[in-house]
Amino acid sequence: MWLKLLIIGGILYALYRVAGGKILPERKADRRDSAEEPEEGETLVECSKCSTYVVKKEAIFYQGKYYCSAECLPKK
Ligand SMILES: [Zn+2]
Repeated sequence: MWLKLLIIGGILYALYRVAGGKILPERKADRRDSAEEPEEGETLVECSKCSTYVVKKEAIFYQGKYYCSAECLPKK
């Protein structure tokens, strides 16, 4: 009973976030409560060399660290 109301409330809240989320920008931190974990490809990772943040799926994972491009890969 209450769980069902919570689910409905969650859906309405999600719709509210999509439609009118800009009204309360200070509650942005709550978004993760109602949203799924971001897909791995959308996660930002920091380049180990130049500290640029790049989308994980476009980053280069090399020897345990992420790099933004081949130019930042450690050269031998
Ligand atoms: Zn870099």
